[in-house]
Amino acid sequence: MSAERSAILREMGLGPVWRLREAPLGIAPADAEPPADAVPVCGPAPDGARGEVPAGMDWEELRTAVAGCRRCGLCQARKQAVLGVGDPDADWLFVGEGPGAEEDQRGEPFVGQAGKLLDSMLASIGLKRGSDVYIANAVKCRPPENRTPAPEESAACRPYLERQIELIRPKLIVALGRPAAQTLLQAEVKIAAARGRLHHYNGIPLVVTYHPAYLLRTLPDKARAWEDLCFMRRTMEGLKGR
Ligand code: URA
Ligand code: SF4
Repeated sequence: MSAERSAILREMGLGPVWRLREAPLGIAPADAEPPADAVPVCGPAPDGARGEVPAGMDWEELRTAVAGCRRCGLCQARKQAVLGVGDPDADWLFVGEGPGAEEDQRGEPFVGQAGKLLDSMLASIGLKRGSDVYIANAVKCRPPENRTPAPEESAACRPYLERQIELIRPKLIVALGRPAAQTLLQAEVKIAAARGRLHHYNGIPLVVTYHPAYLLRTLPDKARAWEDLCFMRRTMEGLKGR
């Protein structure tokens, strides 16, 4: 761990729990600095502290903070946190629910089956992962058994998504599925009622559509998803024409 990363984590009040790669021979004094070869262990902080998310982080700081985050219980079973992928200056921001098994393994959002469908959806309106598109999730760590994130987990993770949006400044946000829509709009959302309309997140236009994993299970709604894709493309054309 670099000194810079340690400093950021300390500043965040994350007080990492330290594990030695090899068991120490003696008992270290309580106030000892962590040894250079120590690695942080995920889990609730001994004092129960969650750590504040500092305002104004740059991408590097955000990446470091998320990688070491222990603000909610989802840190326990993750292999790695998944911040997001794509163009940091993208006009389009797509937000999903949370990493699944493959995403947890590879460290990139939407790389499994649902991701393949998302890539096809993007291609259908002339978009491509990484090119004017950024993809993120409402929670950065995989919920066990791919369950829906609990409200307190989404709330704990929300500051990271908020900062991503501040840094990217997308022209349009697309919420994929109910958990993403609810996290962003801070309201109860029913996709069937919310789709096809323009919403706003802090003044940024936002549209809601079905989650690709849901579409894989519910083929009849694919036609509605196509309508949503057309709606978002029209919306973007209008925004760019301003
Ligand atoms: N589903 C999501 O919501 N996000 C991913 O990254 C993968 C599957
Ligand atoms: Fe932190 Fe978010 Fe992971 Fe919870 S899901 S541990 S808040 S990065």
